[in-house]
Amino acid sequence: MPDRNRLTAMVHFEIDPETTRLLEMVRWLGREYMRPLGIEADRKHQPIPADHPFYKQVWDLGIGRRGWGEEQGSSEGPHRAARRGVVLAEEMAYWDRGVAVSLPGPGLGAPPILLLGTPEQKQRFFSVFNDPERPHWGAFAMTEPGAGSDVAAIRTRARREGDYWVLTGEKMFCSNGARADWVVVWATIDPALGREGHRAFVVERGTPGFRVERIEDKMGLVAYESAALVFEDCRVPAANLLGGEEAYRERAGFKGAMQSFNATRPMVAAMAIGIARAALDRATEFVRTAYRQMAPTARYRRILDKLLWMERKIACGRWLCWRAAYLADMQQPNITEASMAKAYCPQIAQEATSLAMEVLSDLGATKDALVEKWFRDVKAMDIVEGTGQIQRRIIARQLTGLAEV
Ligand SMILES: Cc1cc2nc3c(=O)[nH]c(=O)nc-3n(C[C@H](O)[C@H](O)[C@H](O)COP(=O)(O)OP(=O)(O)OC[C@H]3O[C@@H](n4cnc5c(N)ncnc54)[C@H](O)[C@@H]3O)c2cc1C
Repeated sequence: MPDRNRLTAMVHFEIDPETTRLLEMVRWLGREYMRPLGIEADRKHQPIPADHPFYKQVWDLGIGRRGWGEEQGSSEGPHRAARRGVVLAEEMAYWDRGVAVSLPGPGLGAPPILLLGTPEQKQRFFSVFNDPERPHWGAFAMTEPGAGSDVAAIRTRARREGDYWVLTGEKMFCSNGARADWVVVWATIDPALGREGHRAFVVERGTPGFRVERIEDKMGLVAYESAALVFEDCRVPAANLLGGEEAYRERAGFKGAMQSFNATRPMVAAMAIGIARAALDRATEFVRTAYRQMAPTARYRRILDKLLWMERKIACGRWLCWRAAYLADMQQPNITEASMAKAYCPQIAQEATSLAMEVLSDLGATKDALVEKWFRDVKAMDIVEGTGQIQRRIIARQLTGLAEV
């Protein structure tokens, strides 16, 4: 068990020149395209289609294409991918979190391939992201109708038949699953084996027996599609089992899934911070305009105090994300830090959107103010990549060393 009283790392706060350049690019894309597109998708109540010219434009800028499968940190000193990831994720979500998730690239499918894949598999599955012609997507399918938080309960079955694995089962809420070139699908070779039985397969679009059942009708984050997928005697080449059979000794499949979450949770948390910041900006702007002409009343002071509280919470949340990402970059364990960020940030982002609704009052409830959209968008941040309750259980387990808390 880690010693809580021994500090192991500090965070360096400087942002390197390349990340600064990318941040500027995201800020421009966000203002010009991401926010307007997110509003349009929300009003039409339809995800942005995969052939929308915006995706080709960002693809041409290199978004989703850079460096997949290449060794990180070679030319730039220490690894920076996780820290760069959280900073950019926050900025993208500030403009529109739904559009941010819809961007091309391997998405949540990248971490399991990076963690479990062989060099040949990394090369094979990431090579589509070098295509200069058109954007490509990857996806990650763990959740099932009967297995969300309890990932150990997945029932999608994998059975070996010669040079193939045959998959049978259903997955839900797979982000970008309908447009993905491939989906990392988690299945079990035998539910009785529990976590021991988990395997990760890369299922390519067009594989017979694999189909998209429907696109979920979500309350927020409409810009990207969440797909329900069906696998009916879906024959996947044995070469698509991530890492090969030998990689799954001692619950390595399950551990791989959990490590994937340690990599992605700080990013989701940072996205929540982005939404919180957008809501706080809008509320502050409203207060600045509405109260400019007035003598400071008690109501004014109370609102100002709430805004300052929120600003402090946002700063704390951001630093939790940076710390979790820093540890990931230093290749140190970050399970507690990733869960702390994920438990805290969506919660304060919900508070921030709620506060913005309160400050703008009746105007906040109208579509034009955008606050009601962020209010709907933000709820899912507490659900995806493990709910707030699950994160608190993980932290409690790390704190106490007790398995059942
Ligand atoms: C917008 C969106 C995008 C998503 N994208 C993806 C994706 O790309 N790929 C993918 O695989 N999945 C995805 N998901 C699914 C997501 O990971 C699950 O919804 C999440 O893990 C929760 O599972 P569940 O909805 O089945 O809730 P459940 O597990 O049924 O939980 C219901 C409630 O009970 C609580 N709870 C459950 N167990 C415990 C416990 N032991 N202790 C305390 N409280 C508990 C939960 O916190 C929750 O509040 C997405 C979901 C959404 C909403």
